[in-house]
Amino acid sequence: MPENASYRKVDLHTHSTFSDGRLSPTELVDLAVEQGVTLFSLTDHDTLDGLVEARTRAESHQLSFLNGVELSTQWKGIPLHMVALNFDPNNAALNAVVKENQAIRLDRARRIADLLIKQGLPDLFDEAVTLAGKSQLGRPHFATLMIEKGLVKDANKAFDRYLGNKRLGSLRDVWPELEVVLGQLKDQGMALILAHPKRYPLTVTKLKRLLADFKAWGGTGMEVASGNERPDHVRLMERLSQEFALHASVGSDFHGPFGPWTQVGRFTQIHESEVDLVWRDWV
Ligand code: AMP
Ligand code: MN
Ligand code: MN
Ligand code: MN
Repeated sequence: MPENASYRKVDLHTHSTFSDGRLSPTELVDLAVEQGVTLFSLTDHDTLDGLVEARTRAESHQLSFLNGVELSTQWKGIPLHMVALNFDPNNAALNAVVKENQAIRLDRARRIADLLIKQGLPDLFDEAVTLAGKSQLGRPHFATLMIEKGLVKDANKAFDRYLGNKRLGSLRDVWPELEVVLGQLKDQGMALILAHPKRYPLTVTKLKRLLADFKAWGGTGMEVASGNERPDHVRLMERLSQEFALHASVGSDFHGPFGPWTQVGRFTQIHESEVDLVWRDWV
């Protein structure tokens, strides 16, 4: 990061204990301030529940805070994540999407547990529900239980062997169609950002098809940097954001203070003057 005084350290993609992050919204905001972040968003998976706590804490630090959420969707059978930013937490359309995804999460968890039973594992459903508590239940909760029980060595193994998209079969396509979700949320005044486009199993040609659909259906932006990516990947995403007239967003996708590279406010540097920054109108 350049150490120039006018530079705002922005992080618009993070997770707390309200989904699969390790820190509470309060702890997360404190860490963001410690890291020098000046514009911040909490974007938990399919929930708005952490936003009041995060905003309250951010205000106590005079940290600029944007409401955010990371929504699970699918496109051509591929699970895709979309980050919505800068909305009224009482927005009815958004709350309807979130509520539907929460119901899908619970139903999917039961079916994931059944899939694991078929592979000889114990029934982990009840423990996963308990472990998740008030947070959105997801595959990381199953991974944690598998590690605790000595069934796998670490989360990577849990995903490789049991939980990854390749292993889920038809449980991959449980999420609402991207086109439908965008139809519900466009024209609601919020930014609709395609999350971490580089992380999907897509060739550049197919990614361009996705971006064309995303834009046509009402998407407004895409992340050009998400965590620790190669600079040439970030460069490509910057060019694509220009080609498809999508705003550029950035975020660490921070889940917790572990791993070699995840930190709040840290991601591969972008060329701010060459893209249309999503936060330009907000600060
Ligand atoms: P879900 O929201 O239930 O579909 O779970 C997806 C989440 O699992 C992602 O948001 C990541 O935080 C996490 N995840 C995905 N792949 C891995 C992996 N290989 N190791 C650990 N966590 C992962
Ligand atoms: Mn996650
Ligand atoms: Mn994601
Ligand atoms: Mn995320």
